[in-house]
Amino acid sequence: MALRQIRTVGDPVLTKTCKEIKEITPKILELADDMLETMYEANGVGLAAPQVGILKRMVVIDIGDGPILMINPEIIETSGTQTGDEGCLSLPGKAGTVTRPNYVKARAFNEDGDEYEIEGTELLARAICHELDHLDGHMYMEKVEGELHDVVYEEG
Ligand SMILES: [Zn+2]
Repeated sequence: MALRQIRTVGDPVLTKTCKEIKEITPKILELADDMLETMYEANGVGLAAPQVGILKRMVVIDIGDGPILMINPEIIETSGTQTGDEGCLSLPGKAGTVTRPNYVKARAFNEDGDEYEIEGTELLARAICHELDHLDGHMYMEKVEGELHDVVYEEG
């Protein structure tokens, strides 16, 4: 495993649409491992492949309940709304208020190429929406209500 460099706002790779993963190769699995390691190192709860410069439809999420790998993910159902603070590893030190669905059901493939469905509420629903937006070149700032504000991270 290796840490990858997290691309930040201004890098054009963050504005592009990612390509579907046709085959889960050792290289894809290595990328997944690297993305998880990079996310944990940065104390993030999610990371999308374009954030490490790879235009492929893959995200990793861990809201504290263990790692989730989503290959070619798709949101298939949403309901309700939640409004709260959101940040992004590609815009360090900032956060802003974003309204998202409070419930999300998504479909994706795991590391074995098996399709699965995942349901999430609150933070998990927010993380799924946020990360999947990255795969289409979108970032949360497009949805922010009001101004971004500075965040001070606690060193844990
Ligand atoms: Zn992000």
